Amino acid sequence: MSGVDLGELHWMMGLLQNIDVGLCVLDRDFRIHLWNSFMENHSARKAQDVKEKVLFDLFPEIDRDWLKQKLRPVRQLHTQVFTHWEQRPYLFRFASYRPITGRVDFMYQNVTMIPLSSTHAEIEYVGILVYDVTDVAVNRLAVLAANRELERLSRTDRLTQLYNRGYWEECLQREFKRVQRNRAMVATLVMFDIDHFKRVNDSYGHPAGDEVIRATASALMQQLRETDIGGRYGGEEFTAILVGADAQGGMIFAERLRQFVAEHTVMYEGGEIAYSISLGVAPLTEDVEDIKTWIMRADQALYRSKEGGRNQVTLFET
Ligand code: GH3
Ligand code: MG
Ligand code: MG
Repeated sequence: MSGVDLGELHWMMGLLQNIDVGLCVLDRDFRIHLWNSFMENHSARKAQDVKEKVLFDLFPEIDRDWLKQKLRPVRQLHTQVFTHWEQRPYLFRFASYRPITGRVDFMYQNVTMIPLSSTHAEIEYVGILVYDVTDVAVNRLAVLAANRELERLSRTDRLTQLYNRGYWEECLQREFKRVQRNRAMVATLVMFDIDHFKRVNDSYGHPAGDEVIRATASALMQQLRETDIGGRYGGEEFTAILVGADAQGGMIFAERLRQFVAEHTVMYEGGEIAYSISLGVAPLTEDVEDIKTWIMRADQALYRSKEGGRNQVTLFET
C-alpha cells in the first residue's frame, strides 16, 4: 500500500465496504483482518467482533482441510484460486433472503481467493471474495431438474409408468451387446400379451381395459427383480429382459407371472374382471444375430401359447 495516500485509502476502503461482494482478509493463522459490510450483513457478525479471531472458531461449518489445501497455491505460488458453486455450494453458510429464490435456505457462492502483496516469499495475507450466485444456481438447477424430468417422461409410458417401447429397445440393445462381449453372461427375453383383451374392452369399456393394462404392468413389476427391465411394447403387449437368467430361469419367471395374473382379478367400478396372459420365452443364444431376431423368437413363442389355447408359457424352439 506504499503508493497510496491516506485520502485514497479512505475512499477505497469505503468502496470495499459497500460492494455487493463478500470480502474477508485472512492471515497465515486464519485470523480475520478485514470483514466488509456484505460479510457483516450475511453472517450477522460485526467486523469488530470477528477481528483477529480464527475463522474456523467462528464458522465451524467451514471444512478446514479443504480450505487449507485450496489456499496452499495462493500462498506459495501467488496464484488466484477459484471455486464454483457446482463444486462446492458455499464456503460460508449464509441464509438466502432473496424473494425469488425463497426455495433455498442458503446462499450459493462462488469464491475467489487472491494473494495480497507481500515482501516475503510466502504470502502473508489472502483475500477471500464471496459472490452471491444464488439466483444463477437456482435457475440452473431448475433447468437441470426439468431436463431430467423430460428425459424420464420421454422413456416412460404414461398409462403404466413402465419403460416405453423406444427406450426399452435401447435397453435390449445394450443387454444384447453386453452378452455378446461376454459370453459367460446370460439374458432371457419374455414377451406377453393379454388374452382376449378386445372382450375386456367390449364388455367393460375402454377405461376398464386401461385399468387391466395398469394392473398387468404392476403385476409385472412386482415379479421382476431389481436388475430386470420391464416395458410396455404395444397396446396390451409387455416385455421383460431378465438379466442373468437362462432359459430355465426365464420359464420359471414366466410361469410365476402367468399364475399370478390368472389368480388375481381387477376391480373396476364394482365389477370384477378375471383375465389371463400368454407368454413367450426366448433365451439369448449364440445364434441370435441381432435384437430383431431375439424379439421375433419371443414373439413366435408367444404366438404358440396363443395357438395352444392361451393362458400358457412357451419356450422358443428352433
Ligand atoms: P388375443 O388373445 O389373441 O390377444 O386377443 P385380443 O382380443 O387381445 O387381440 P389383440 O391383441 O389383437 O387385441 C388388442 C386390443 O387391445 C385391440 C385394442 O383396441 C386394445 N387396446 C390397445 N391398446 C389399448 C389401450 O391402451 N387401452 C385399452 N383399453 N385398449 C387397448
Ligand atoms: Mg391380446
Ligand atoms: Mg395384442
